[in-house]
Amino acid sequence: MLATITAVFNWLAERLRDFLMWPINLIRDFPVRSGRLLVTLWRGLRAIVFFTPELVNAQRKQNLHSWSRYKAGRFFDWWHQLLTQLFDLLGGPELGEFLMHLVTNTTPLTPKEIHMIAAVLGENAMRFGDIRVVEGGLFDLVFKLNGNLAFATWHSINLPRKKTHQGSHTRANLPIVVHELTHVYQYEKVGTRYLGEAVYMLIKTKRDCYNYGGIAGLKNACAAGICYRDFNREQQAKITQDYFYYCQHNIDVAAFEPFIAQVRAGEL
Ligand SMILES: [Zn+2]
Repeated sequence: MLATITAVFNWLAERLRDFLMWPINLIRDFPVRSGRLLVTLWRGLRAIVFFTPELVNAQRKQNLHSWSRYKAGRFFDWWHQLLTQLFDLLGGPELGEFLMHLVTNTTPLTPKEIHMIAAVLGENAMRFGDIRVVEGGLFDLVFKLNGNLAFATWHSINLPRKKTHQGSHTRANLPIVVHELTHVYQYEKVGTRYLGEAVYMLIKTKRDCYNYGGIAGLKNACAAGICYRDFNREQQAKITQDYFYYCQHNIDVAAFEPFIAQVRAGEL
């Protein structure tokens, strides 16, 4: 009985916390969120100004077709950034998390989990205290439908409770926790656009978007001057996941080091 009362009280306290995060982050994150929006607006203005000269140039070089395709991609990317940045500015992530958490249970990261992710991303990489691990409730149904695959939404990492196979995406699977927390890190660094970019790659590659080529791939990428930020959002999360796993198993991580340095510098 006492355990039930405590559980209900904890749940209510967490929902109140979720709700208060909205006004808190509206103010706290206003400078960074409005800054991102201004950069996007500036980028749009530049694109308009340079559109005609670039068009004339493309016509002269007779590569109008590839130029138009490139410009169309940039156009959609710009709109995606603009909309997600407006969403962030209005506190959409906090409202989204508040609503999603109404049908489930949340707990903060344990000190052990914070220590683990800090060892990968850096001591002050992100607001570890804001992160919530989401498990159970109606989310059991979500995981039944998606094949028990973990996913991250803003400051939440959503993990199935059911252990279905070796390497299940439960909280006990620490490399997966590192993977999902990398998505939270992406959110803190670039905003909600990480989510659209990750989902876009999942659809575009039919879920084959995690492969970054392993150690050989990292060595080649390094030699070619490719940076961590050049990998897609899922590859980025897989790189830190594997880095953690290799460290855990005392496997040489030299090939990861230049990229992990970029992660810790927030270059994503
Ligand atoms: Zn992922």
